[in-house]
Amino acid sequence: MPALLMLGSVALLCCVIVLLLRRLHRGLMARTEKPLFKIAYGLYTRTRLGYWFYKRQLKRARERYPHGHSSTQAIVFSGVKVVPIPVLSDNYSYLVIDTTSSLAVAVDPSDPVVVQTYLDREGVSLEAILCTHKHWDHSGGNKALKKHYKSCRVYGSSCDDIPELTHPLSDRDLLSVGRLQFQAYFTPGHTVGHMIYVLDGKSGDGPDCLFSGDLLFLAGCGRMFEGSAETMLGSLDTVTSLNDSTLLWPGHEYAMDNLKFAEVVEPENTIRDRKFQWVSQQRLEKKCTCPSTIGEEKEYNPFLRTHCRDLHMALDLQRGPEEEWSHFRARVLEEVRRRKDLFKER
Ligand SMILES: [Zn+2]
Repeated sequence: MPALLMLGSVALLCCVIVLLLRRLHRGLMARTEKPLFKIAYGLYTRTRLGYWFYKRQLKRARERYPHGHSSTQAIVFSGVKVVPIPVLSDNYSYLVIDTTSSLAVAVDPSDPVVVQTYLDREGVSLEAILCTHKHWDHSGGNKALKKHYKSCRVYGSSCDDIPELTHPLSDRDLLSVGRLQFQAYFTPGHTVGHMIYVLDGKSGDGPDCLFSGDLLFLAGCGRMFEGSAETMLGSLDTVTSLNDSTLLWPGHEYAMDNLKFAEVVEPENTIRDRKFQWVSQQRLEKKCTCPSTIGEEKEYNPFLRTHCRDLHMALDLQRGPEEEWSHFRARVLEEVRRRKDLFKER
């Protein structure tokens, strides 16, 4: 009887955990201060249950989207090829290829099987993994790929428990693979050790390319799971300091939802309107919406517009008489994030 009771309790606990993880995945507990959210997030990031949940999501996504959730197109500069890879239900991994040496870098290769298919199709060898952060939907493929490519370097922040990390990076560190040159930027907020990577366009006579993970999306930004609004603002300011022509390659296909929300907080923005029309058409045909550019994002992404008066008025926020400008902007960011979380919950 005690054994039966124990078995029953374990089964009940498992059901509760699955429900919590599902709610986390769907974003229904977007308000990060909620106790239930904290439990689910702790389970996801700190225990084997998170890995098990990721494996389950991987299996389901492969069944549901045998050819990927979106159709993507590679872009080629002289000597460099950037290949977006649709993985899971809305993530993007990327291959960046030095076409002269046939060496490849993979950014956040979360589905190792799909990424391997692309490596084979391109006929290239995996030399390095650039991991933006520890969440399984970005780092879950590191182990399997590292097993296959023994000399593959794995880059990321040592603050973030990146699986198989071999080369810990600090802010503004440079790294190169073949003729490809990248700079890493430390951008905490979404996680404590989040990093973004900028491919130097001069590697291939093209524009710079930003691989932003879950810091920045088309018209959106990542949730502040492990950092304050002040921290996140500093990380977003790093992005706005890049060249306007920099191409943005984000970690998720969230453009439609983000632009719908952007309309609520900046209804008069005609540039956003035009982008929304284009994105709607792309998504009707299940086409990938990246890359945009940093210059474009500054025009319609509310998370990069905390300095804009129209946004302050729409949010009904005013700067206090003695308030530091950066403190006020962090308050604006926090309010935009709060409203976006509620918008998603509807
Ligand atoms: Zn994440």
